[in-house]
Amino acid sequence: MSMNCEDVERFAGAYADGELDLERTLALEAHVSTCAACTTRLDEAHAVKHALRAAPYFRAPEALAARVRAAAAAASTDATGMARQANILRVQRNRWRPWLLSAVSLAAAALVFVVVLRERAAVADDATTEAVIEGHVRSLMAGHLVDVASTDRHTVKPWFAGRVDFSPTVVDLVTDGFPLVGGRVDYIDRHTAAALIYKRRDHVINVFVWPQATGSPSHVTRSDVRGYHLISWTRGGMAVWIVSDLALSELEDFGRKLDAAMHD
Ligand SMILES: [Zn+2]
Repeated sequence: MSMNCEDVERFAGAYADGELDLERTLALEAHVSTCAACTTRLDEAHAVKHALRAAPYFRAPEALAARVRAAAAAASTDATGMARQANILRVQRNRWRPWLLSAVSLAAAALVFVVVLRERAAVADDATTEAVIEGHVRSLMAGHLVDVASTDRHTVKPWFAGRVDFSPTVVDLVTDGFPLVGGRVDYIDRHTAAALIYKRRDHVINVFVWPQATGSPSHVTRSDVRGYHLISWTRGGMAVWIVSDLALSELEDFGRKLDAAMHD
């Protein structure tokens, strides 16, 4: 899949919201990396997203909210208008000050709340990232890569029955150059995970899958930690984490094909 400027315009909002699937995320980023206009477009989408994010926590009374909107509109007028506004403000300062202060403190409180929420989310992601790497390294230790060794997904999938309380989708990617090696049950960051093991040449790829609350938007994250590449996303109520020391471009290719095959 490749994207042009029109596609980016269409998907910029979803991308900023973390709601694009892996394939579209990669295609969008590939285009944006070579297009200044779309880089600007994406920056704007991010700005809008942050403004909207703050909104639900801004529980101002409607009358106050209306006045804040009016003030914001006034603030965005041209220099002449602003000068005139400043005069009006000066005249009405005493009358305006109380709501201005409460608006500022509400905005500050909203900002703190948003920052706390985002940091909490980041910490959760970091903890999972560490746990995924640990799971990967652990699996590379002698004799611990697979509990069921098979290149046949019709053998691997039923093996999980009774071992995990969900049914992981197991796909065959051998024609794409990523043969299935087997499966394993693992425990990742307080999740009982189905681990699916694929190979690319002599590189091992661990795919960790566990149920994620349904309705959560797909959210693609990527990180590089100590020589390992990680890509994660959620779709169809499942969190998928892939980890390997494979080159990032190859792991992205794998992720794209895995995601597509899992949702055929
Ligand atoms: Zn473009």
